[in-house]
Amino acid sequence: MTLRDLLESTARRAVHYLETLDDRGVAPTAQALHNLSRLHESFPEHPTDPTEVLALLDEVGSPATVASAGGRFFGFVIGGAVPASLAANWLAAAWDQNGGLIATSPIGAALESVAMAWLLDVLHLPPESGVGFVTCATAANFTALAAARHSVLQQVGWDVESQGLFGAPPITVIVGDEVHVSILKALTLLGLGRDRVIRVPVDDQGRMRADALPAMSGPTIVCIQAGNVNSGAFDPATEIIAKAHASGAWVHVDGAFGLWAAAAPDRAYLTAGYADADSWGTDGHKWLNTPYDCGLVICRDAAALKAAMAASAASSAYLVQTENREPYQYTPDFSRRARGVEVWAALRSLGRSGVADLVERTCRHAARFAEGLTAAGYLVLNEVVINQVMVTFGDAETTHAIIADLQAEGTCWASGSVWHGHSVMRISVSSWATTESDVERSLEAILRVAARYTDGV
Ligand SMILES: *Cc1c(COP(=O)(O)O)cnc(C)c1O
Repeated sequence: MTLRDLLESTARRAVHYLETLDDRGVAPTAQALHNLSRLHESFPEHPTDPTEVLALLDEVGSPATVASAGGRFFGFVIGGAVPASLAANWLAAAWDQNGGLIATSPIGAALESVAMAWLLDVLHLPPESGVGFVTCATAANFTALAAARHSVLQQVGWDVESQGLFGAPPITVIVGDEVHVSILKALTLLGLGRDRVIRVPVDDQGRMRADALPAMSGPTIVCIQAGNVNSGAFDPATEIIAKAHASGAWVHVDGAFGLWAAAAPDRAYLTAGYADADSWGTDGHKWLNTPYDCGLVICRDAAALKAAMAASAASSAYLVQTENREPYQYTPDFSRRARGVEVWAALRSLGRSGVADLVERTCRHAARFAEGLTAAGYLVLNEVVINQVMVTFGDAETTHAIIADLQAEGTCWASGSVWHGHSVMRISVSSWATTESDVERSLEAILRVAARYTDGV
């Protein structure tokens, strides 16, 4: 078996997988999960033909996937992969580039530079910003907050990169009460502590209340959010950023998916004011629909991002340095895959109108879910401003039972959450692959399953 045969047969397997996604349940069957036990063999003593390895992977692995690449997966906030970015991912895997340096991947660095300019353009963010291509929004939030930590301490004469936090002036961190757990994780990793934050009360949609912001002084970081992971709501950026900047605070935006509303003319009003922040974290693998993994950290002051991510000059002397943008200078990683390739491919194939349509279309699908559920008598708890819908079917027990039955039934997949004390089913429409007929089939399945429990609603 030649390398050509191996790769061509693998491509056929992948195509077959995608072409038959529609005919299977979204969740894997019990049998498929049971078959995973075939993988638990002892470590082979001798080499195996790669074709056999791939056959095993496909036969056991493909059925045990969650069909999130298809059109009826609505769990968490998970996008699919637009065709050009999936194909680019394949080619880039063949290239096997180390994306950290221009010297090890001129193409990776070039595509990052192009993609970052387009990204700032389509998201309406400051063109001078520094951008790092990281694994996910959690990593993006972490990286941005490292830049924030650098900057607010530098302003009071403390060099956190060389001196650390022991003895440093304290940093006040302000978050909304609906802060995403990834921000708290990032604060933990940065030594800023998840429990010493000031939590600002939120309104009924989970938006930070600008009128409840505390007075700020000294080194301060304010974290706001574009797109609440449950309700999809946006914090009132204009008021919060004006107040924060008046006292010299750094404002970071967690915009894992919501920031992409800026790309759709009819939703852009939601992101008003966000471009005035200091840093932003977002995902490629959510709403832009690049393959996993892809997060993007954006920092208005590119120098602060670079300073926070710098390796010391002495210990990095062996790295080939140029005057140009070296990808590793903007991320926690040195060696990594050249994930700018897929961002470039997604943006290059969609274009401005394609990105706008992707965002707008998924929002429209979410509105249709909300309309259908409401018409059937169920309570949608959020204002469906973007692609997120939260519906309750009554008490927690009923809602949990409906979610479990729906997942087992297989037509579509949505997960549960808790919203202001109510157990809810959360429907997130984030995939390019979702069609109107996917929405109708899924809505019908949800209503069919729910009717078993809620006769007479
Ligand atoms: C999904 C999400 C995150 C985390 O994103 P990952 O890519 O999973 O790390 C952070 N914040 C918000 C608001 C999110 O929706």
